[in-house]
Amino acid sequence: MKAVIVVDMVNDFVTGKLGSPHARSIVPRLQTLLRQARTKGVPVVYVCDAHQPGDPELEVWGEHSMKGTEGAEIVEELSPEEGDVVFEKRAFDAFTNPSLDQELRGRGVDELVMTGVATNICVQNTAADAFYKGYRLTVVEDCTAAPSEEEHREGLKYMKSMFGAKALKADEAL
Ligand SMILES: [Zn+2]
Repeated sequence: MKAVIVVDMVNDFVTGKLGSPHARSIVPRLQTLLRQARTKGVPVVYVCDAHQPGDPELEVWGEHSMKGTEGAEIVEELSPEEGDVVFEKRAFDAFTNPSLDQELRGRGVDELVMTGVATNICVQNTAADAFYKGYRLTVVEDCTAAPSEEEHREGLKYMKSMFGAKALKADEAL
C-alpha cells in the first residue's frame, strides 16, 4: 500500500524566505498527483516544519516555518482536503514525529511516494529514516525540488544508490 508524502510545501519553502523558482515550478504537477492519489484512495500525508525556538536546525538556517506563522502554512494551491493528514515536524526527518510512523503502519502503508522540498535535505532525511524502518521508496523526480538543479540531482542520486529508491515521473508514480 502506497502513501504520498508531501514534504514542506509551506509558504516559507515555496514563496517565502527559503523559497525558490524550482519549488514553485513543481506545484501544478504536484496538484495533479495529489488529485490522482485521492481518486485512487492513496493516502496523502503532509509533513511540515513547525519550528519552535531552540530547534537545532535554526542555528544553521535561521528562523523559518515557525509554528503558528503564515510561513508554516501549506501553500494555498496544495491545501489539504478531507481525508488527508498533516503532521508537524521540528527536524529534517519527519519520522522524528513518532505519530507519522504510527499513522502509516495503521493504514497498512509499506511504500512511500516522496514529493516536496528540498530533495537533498528534508526529503532525503525523511527517506533515510523510512528506509531504516523498512518502507520501500519512490521519489517523484518532477514533484521534488531543491534550491538548485544540482542539489536536486545529488539528492535523487543519493536516495537511489543508498536506499534503493525508484525515481519516477509524476505520471507513472501511482
Ligand atoms: Zn526546518
